[in-house]
Amino acid sequence: MSGQPVLETRDVALAYATHRGTISAVAGVSMQVAPGECVAICGRSGSGKSTLLALLGGLCAPTSGTVLFSGRPWTSLGAVEIQAARAEQIGFLLQESVLLPGLRTIDNVMLPQLIAGRDHESAFAEAQEMLARVGLAERWDAYPAELSGGQQRRVALARTLATKPRVILADEPTNDLDAYAEQEIVRILAEIKAAGSTAIVVVTHDPAVAMIADRRLWMEQGALVDAPELPAFDRQAIGLATRADSAAAAFEPAPADLVPQVATPVTMDWWRMLVPFAVGLSVAAAVLGGIDWFVASRQRQAVNTIRQQRRVAEEMALQDLRADIDDVVANVDGSFTAALFLDNVRSDRNLYVLGPATGMAVQRDGRWESLPTTSSPETMKEIREVGAERVFIPVTFSVPEGRYDELLRGYLHVRISATMVVSDRNDGTGDLFERADAYYVYLRDPKLTEDEIRTANGWAPKATVPRWIAMPAH
Ligand code: ADP
Repeated sequence: MSGQPVLETRDVALAYATHRGTISAVAGVSMQVAPGECVAICGRSGSGKSTLLALLGGLCAPTSGTVLFSGRPWTSLGAVEIQAARAEQIGFLLQESVLLPGLRTIDNVMLPQLIAGRDHESAFAEAQEMLARVGLAERWDAYPAELSGGQQRRVALARTLATKPRVILADEPTNDLDAYAEQEIVRILAEIKAAGSTAIVVVTHDPAVAMIADRRLWMEQGALVDAPELPAFDRQAIGLATRADSAAAAFEPAPADLVPQVATPVTMDWWRMLVPFAVGLSVAAAVLGGIDWFVASRQRQAVNTIRQQRRVAEEMALQDLRADIDDVVANVDGSFTAALFLDNVRSDRNLYVLGPATGMAVQRDGRWESLPTTSSPETMKEIREVGAERVFIPVTFSVPEGRYDELLRGYLHVRISATMVVSDRNDGTGDLFERADAYYVYLRDPKLTEDEIRTANGWAPKATVPRWIAMPAH
């Protein structure tokens, strides 16, 4: 293995103390995961795979042995370092849905980045990119409950990827998914692996997942054993219970050293003592059930009201509000001022816009370079009422010296981005909807004469040379 392993275990063991004795879930495992490597951990249910994964991620401490992340034992890291490593360098993909039900898909994906201190705009852009990567760009505003299990898993994957982790620890990522959703997850994992910058450790029963790994480890009774050869590494070998399998073949037998105890039903004496309580309990259950129902219906009402409000804000942001560039002028000091306008196409209701926060970029050598803007950085704190009158927002920016005219001679290719939050109220009680726009324009280079631009582009002598040209979004 070249370079330092991103994860390593040295003779690591973890025993659970239970009321019937200790269960040795992981027993003396030594393994390494190289940067960018994809390792599948397979084995029958109960063989210790999930426990090993939790140990690798520093989620639990071993009973003995050492687990190292980037060459440092988890036990040597302070609380802040552990938190930072888990938040920024390790992506966990667990079986339970970890999406927050009250947040839209895009917000769920952005959340870890915002918590890590990243600015809103770049977190938003990153989240959009990651959602596109998992094929869910169109569903950015869906709430988790509006997505299928497979889609939720993909959102969780996008969220994991957005933090650009060094390693992803995934526990049965295709469990409970239909064949198509499974394929999608496998395809994304294969892409991450091919990109080479993120190591993946995946616990799986799924041959399709195991097959994309660089290495397959096999666990039996808490220890690593020789994995079956690839051809034999089929559905049955991996431990999927098929109809023909006996239950004993599919699951790991119970640990041998547990104190034997035969399962017994509740004894009669206990049952007699329980009878008086049982009547009381069923009355209490009925009352609690009623309260539950009441609470649930109130919650449903509240959710419906919120959804209704959200629909209004969404409609305002996406249908009623027209925003675009009205004009761009070159100033005497060499800077430019773009006038962004906001229009409300409906006459019967005003809308309120927080922002916009604007960003500028110019294209050079095929890349977008950010430009400093001199408009007030406070714009995101202003709430503007947009009624019958068109609202103008001037944004002044400067383009550093150099040649930028690679696409159209004598013109700079500029991107103006505007992020704004739209609401139907101005007191913070209405729902909010975020809209992010990008406008693309060609700006005539003020240092060149019209004739120079005509000649450079091979235009006719009397051809108009516009000061700026609006481009469709792209
Ligand atoms: P796998 O992921 O391969 O199904 P696990 O790592 O979940 O296996 O479990 C390994 C063994 O440890 C099993 O015998 C399981 O019953 C036991 N085990 C797991 N978690 C606990 C716990 N919190 N307390 C006691 N025993 C546990």
